[in-house]
Amino acid sequence: MLRRPIMGGIFGQGEFELATQPTISAGLHAVRFMVIQPRAGRILAISESKTEALAGARRVLRATGVANDEPRWVQPRLWSDAELSVVSEPPPRPVSRRRRDVFVRSGGCCAYCGTPLRIDGAWHVEHQLPRALGGTDEALNLVAACERCNLQKSDRTAIEFMAARAV
Ligand SMILES: [Zn+2]
Repeated sequence: MLRRPIMGGIFGQGEFELATQPTISAGLHAVRFMVIQPRAGRILAISESKTEALAGARRVLRATGVANDEPRWVQPRLWSDAELSVVSEPPPRPVSRRRRDVFVRSGGCCAYCGTPLRIDGAWHVEHQLPRALGGTDEALNLVAACERCNLQKSDRTAIEFMAARAV
C-alpha cells in the first residue's frame, strides 16, 4: 500500500508520525500527507493538504478521547522497511452486524478465557446453550469465544464447560 520513499516527522508524544507519500494526481506528480500510528498499524488521516491531514488526525484523536498536543517537528527521515511493514497491514475486513453485536456484548474478549479478540479475527459466535440442546440464536444465548475454547466446549453448556475447566 505504501511505497518508499516516505519521509516522516513526529507528531504528538512520538506515537504518531506525519508522512508524505509521492502520488499521481490528475496526471501530475503530487504528494499526499498521512498521519499514521506505526505501532498500531493505523492511518488516522490522509489528505493532499498537510493542514487538512493534521486537522483530520486531531478530529480522530479527539473523537477517541486521546489527549493530543501540538505537532513537534523533527528532522524528516527515511523509514525503515520494518516500520513500513507494520503500516502496510491489510485494512480490517467488514464484519457483519450480528458478529459486531456479539463482539461488543462480550467486551471484545473470549467469554470463557478472557483472551482479547480482534473484531475481524477468526473467533466464533458461541451458543452458551448449544443448539444440539435446544439453544437458540437469540442475542442472550450468543457470546464471542476464541477458537480454542469453542472447540473444547463442544456440545456442553457454558456452565458445564466452566465447571470442567475449574477442576
Ligand atoms: Zn477462549
